[in-house]
Amino acid sequence: MSDKIVCSVVVPLYNEEEVILETYKRLKKVMDSTNESYEIIFVNDGSRDKTEEMAHEICNNDPKIKLINFARNFGHQIAITAGMDYAEGQAIVVIDADLQDPPELIPKMLEKWKEGYDVVYGKRLAREGETFFKKFTAKVFYRFLRKMTDVDIPVDTGDFRLIDRKVAEALKLVNERNRYIRGIISWLGFKQIGVEFNRDKRFAGETKYPLKKMLKFAFDAITSFSYKPLKLASYMGFFLSFFSFIYLLVVLYTKLFSKSFVQAGWASTLAVSLFFNGITLIILGIIGEYIGRIYDEAKGRPLYIIKETKNFSEDKKDKIT
Ligand code: UDP
Ligand code: MG
Repeated sequence: MSDKIVCSVVVPLYNEEEVILETYKRLKKVMDSTNESYEIIFVNDGSRDKTEEMAHEICNNDPKIKLINFARNFGHQIAITAGMDYAEGQAIVVIDADLQDPPELIPKMLEKWKEGYDVVYGKRLAREGETFFKKFTAKVFYRFLRKMTDVDIPVDTGDFRLIDRKVAEALKLVNERNRYIRGIISWLGFKQIGVEFNRDKRFAGETKYPLKKMLKFAFDAITSFSYKPLKLASYMGFFLSFFSFIYLLVVLYTKLFSKSFVQAGWASTLAVSLFFNGITLIILGIIGEYIGRIYDEAKGRPLYIIKETKNFSEDKKDKIT
């Protein structure tokens, strides 16, 4: 059965006990209806609830469902990477576990793939049941990222997409630790197309992307595709030196040629000094973000550590990373 899998579906799971069963049922129904051979790969990203147990149970009853169990929480993007590394299908679909991305779109993606597209990404038209804050920040972020980078990353798309086997193989060559996968896939090139959908609200449970993770994700995206923020220091330096010089001329002129005093107030001095200290710290912080990432790369640790796998063919079993 497993020698010719057409479609692999990769589902990252982090504390999803409330949704995993429903997700499995809906995915199974859709995949059965396609009449293609398929596998569904659950990647349990170090969940601390019953996700792991439940995934095991599903795998015991259905050999088409496979499980990769991480040794701890490595993060969404890494979970997707592991799933893609292990997938055997000719096409690989990545989908969130919370049913915000409708599984019913997969047959349409497969259709486009059969027409010859190598990447079929889901483009979000509306996002339901998400806070104004999330929608607003996402909208601004995708557009800002587009301005910052030279890579053509489609706006309002998540990781819900289908990729062809050759794209997955190319992706394996990209070994970055702090990954922004949807960006990397755009960077790879290939023939891409979007299919539109309305993003539902989470089936149950809460978002696993709190503000802290969102910020890290945003920084990863920007730093891995652009060094424009680093240029900020030089631009600001030139800009401020220019104005300081003009101001110096004004002071000199006042001192030499006019009768009025040059006023030196401590309040204004303090304000200016605080302002520039702030700017300096921000720029140091930006440099720090890049250096931290260089440090991560330099250590060269494996992307993920796997505790166990289930229902995979023999040759995949021994891999631990
Ligand atoms: N996820 C994960 N590891 C994490 C955080 C999230 O595998 O550390 C998974 C999560 O289980 C879900 C997907 O990533 O399947 C997207 O997460 P979520 O729906 O919470 O994000 P949102 O849709 O709110 O941006
Ligand atoms: Mg979600």
